Amino acid sequence: MKIKAFGANASHLPLEPMTITRRLPGEDDVQISIDYCGVCHSDLHQVRSEWAGTLYPCVPGHEIVGRVTAVGGHVSKFNVGDLVGVGCIVDSCKHCHECIDDQENYCDHMVGTYNGPTHDALGHTLGGYAEQIVVDERYVLRISHPQEQLAAVAPLLCAGITTYSPLRHWHAGPGKKVGIVGIGGLGHMGIKLAHAMGAHVVAFTTSESKRDAAKALGADEVVVSKNADEMAKHLQSLDLIVNTVAAPHDLDAFLSLLKRDGTMTLVGAPATNHPSPNAFNLIMKRRSLAGSMIGGIRETQEMLDFCAEHNIVSDIELIRADEINTAYERMLKGDVKYRFVIDNATLAR
Ligand code: NAP
Ligand code: ZN
Repeated sequence: MKIKAFGANASHLPLEPMTITRRLPGEDDVQISIDYCGVCHSDLHQVRSEWAGTLYPCVPGHEIVGRVTAVGGHVSKFNVGDLVGVGCIVDSCKHCHECIDDQENYCDHMVGTYNGPTHDALGHTLGGYAEQIVVDERYVLRISHPQEQLAAVAPLLCAGITTYSPLRHWHAGPGKKVGIVGIGGLGHMGIKLAHAMGAHVVAFTTSESKRDAAKALGADEVVVSKNADEMAKHLQSLDLIVNTVAAPHDLDAFLSLLKRDGTMTLVGAPATNHPSPNAFNLIMKRRSLAGSMIGGIRETQEMLDFCAEHNIVSDIELIRADEINTAYERMLKGDVKYRFVIDNATLAR
């Protein structure tokens, strides 16, 4: 089936309208008419080939929300008309240790929503900057937020789960002091989620202009990380830091804020490496430097239900599909509060 989409034909070219082909729904598939798609910094990394191995044409987008328009004969969890979401994963091997453990995000054969291997036309997956998508029901999420919040729910499918999963894994909650570094799409969700889990939240930003906004998002304290004296006030005091920064930077400045046995987990995935941290900064207080990648499907559903229960959505700026190239430039400058979301109805115009 031919549908309209927005994507790029090469790393140096802007995104442009294009026509792509989707498969007809198979027995286990759900066909979804996409209403909105969030714009993740990973989309920009991938489409500009900042990470190795981008396949073209590249249609990004893995923060997908919409409505079911058809289901295959074996589909049991979804009906036509249901509000659903699709995040970063559209397939995995389904039988390895990770898949059985509901950690498909760590399956060696996980298929990304874009740029992953597929039997469908073209041979690689194409994402949510498109009118429609067809996905195996195992990787489709149920949305219970009110329909009018749908656009602001979209970013939960990546920014939400990518911060929720490490917060849960490292037990953010009452009595814990949690730092969130970088107040962009991921970071602003990290603040909201850590706050809702009951942690004491410290937001770290390079942008003086986000000081008040971070408090409004739920931060108990805000630190402009360029100011050494502000940083020094938090030395050896944090249990957990979730670092979302999309560019290489000095990790030692943050590691030294962890208390004994504290952990800093990297979720930001810059195109080039961070400078290596000082070993003594880890050794002296038995600190850990870790990483975390999105979250499994079961945990993504748990996160969506948690957000619906706590009335949590993303703070968004809705854009037309043809504004995507400008949105990328603004995202690079940190000029978005806090997530661009494409109104996919504008693809048809
Ligand atoms: P974003 O909206 O652009 O936010 C990144 C934030 O980092 C910026 O708003 C900025 O916040 C801070 N920052 C500080 N210095 C920066 C610099 N030199 N360049 C860019 N940002 C800087 O990005 P995002 O969508 O939240 O994604 C963040 C990173 O996470 C990306 O690398 C993305 O690929 C990665 N990611 C990883 C996963 C995973 O599974 N691990 C999932 C999704 C995304 P302040 O103004 O507050 O300093
Ligand atoms: Zn993402």
